[in-house]
Amino acid sequence: MTDSPLWLASVCDDALESPDGQPQTTSTGTHHPCLLEQQFEGARITAGETVPCYDCGGRLHEGRPISARACRYSDELTYTIAAVYCVGCAPTELTGTAHGRDDVILEADLGLAMAGQTHWTTLVDPTVVATA
Ligand SMILES: [Zn+2]
Repeated sequence: MTDSPLWLASVCDDALESPDGQPQTTSTGTHHPCLLEQQFEGARITAGETVPCYDCGGRLHEGRPISARACRYSDELTYTIAAVYCVGCAPTELTGTAHGRDDVILEADLGLAMAGQTHWTTLVDPTVVATA
């Protein structure tokens, strides 16, 4: 005898709908000096084997400690190295900053790289000193 009651089992599995599965980005809102420094590792300064100090004009050679000032406008992806200083002229804080522009001062060693037939002075082991 099959006298089974007919249960209309409407198991409404109302699973919680996940909202679009967007990855939650943890916004820290802080600067990451390490990532910033990575941008400058090996960055080319100018063509040539030496670079003049922006202040005193002294020629800086490979292996010399230098300071560099770089800036990036808000619509640019990468920083541009605006000036290079010898240790004696190195600025310790940023002056003349502008709205809509990120400025940074770096300490680095001066490196030398070959690109084709051209020598380029580069930044080696840069350290961020100041940002604005
Ligand atoms: Zn100088």
